[in-house]
Amino acid sequence: MIAVLKQGVSKKQIENLCHWFREQGIDVHISEGEYYTVLGLIGDTSKIDIELLEDLDIVESVKRISDPFKSANRKFHPEDSVIEVGDLKIGGGNFQLIAGPCSVESQEQILEVAEGVKAAGASILRGGAFKPRTSPYDFQGLKADGIELLLIAKEKTGMPIITEIMNANHLPLFEHVDIIQVGARNMQNFELLKELGRTNKPILLKRGLASTLKELLMSAEYIMAGGNERVILCERGIRTFETYTRNTLDLSAVPMLRELTHLPIVVDPSHATGMVRLVKPMAMAAAAAGADGIMIEVHNNPSKALCDGPQSLTPEQFKDVAQKIRKILEVVRE
Ligand code: PEP
Ligand code: MN
Repeated sequence: MIAVLKQGVSKKQIENLCHWFREQGIDVHISEGEYYTVLGLIGDTSKIDIELLEDLDIVESVKRISDPFKSANRKFHPEDSVIEVGDLKIGGGNFQLIAGPCSVESQEQILEVAEGVKAAGASILRGGAFKPRTSPYDFQGLKADGIELLLIAKEKTGMPIITEIMNANHLPLFEHVDIIQVGARNMQNFELLKELGRTNKPILLKRGLASTLKELLMSAEYIMAGGNERVILCERGIRTFETYTRNTLDLSAVPMLRELTHLPIVVDPSHATGMVRLVKPMAMAAAAAGADGIMIEVHNNPSKALCDGPQSLTPEQFKDVAQKIRKILEVVRE
């Protein structure tokens, strides 16, 4: 349920009303917009007398929300969420370009890629340390050493870093990581999501290989219900009957999610297509569709990459894509 309050309501009046809800075991989510304050009521709201609430002189309107996702719902929080990552912001008109290798392989590799993508305009460095691989015989990532190398690259370039977590027991290793990624394969690892809900780190939550947008939002809800509201959603392609591309990029997810949620939305054209030559057109399309960020895999020597070489751009190719994205953003912002 949401209660929209009248303009000019005082802090004290809001506090009193929230106190009254909380006394009835209802959690209140306050969203203060430029004009209106919206109270999102979470819990068993069936006992609340809507007419009584509507009659209060500080209440403008009351509406029941049937969507199963509450905290992530735009109806609860009409304004875009802006998530701070170090000195950067993502969401609400703040766009960020995330780039880096699929996996961290060595100090030279991550430093060379980090310098390259930074010079080309990326603002956040990605790199997998714990890799979810389909085969147990494939390279599984450098694990804790990989995170150490990312931290060296962060120190040298000043770029915030994002890397994937697969097991909540590894959380202490992520202390200095700026954004924690939950990969497509773990989107419904609810125990992991609950643990991340107890942290205060920004979480980039990737859409599962065969997950609906509602399921993605319900997974975001798991993190938010634990108190961590700093969730960024990521469309990375879904599995369809098409086999020419690695996945099918569902770009309509961007405007659809924009309607449904206030959370920032990032698109990953690398995993969505699996092919270098498709990354540029899909990255441009993602920017045109209104994404708040784009995440692209870049490697200094793609043919030798230990993971996802066929979809990895060289820093030079990335520079060209970054320029095109900037041009598209100018048009989108007009
Ligand atoms: C990744 O970003 O490296 C990754 C494994 O992506 P996904 O979870 O989307 O497959
Ligand atoms: Mn990858």
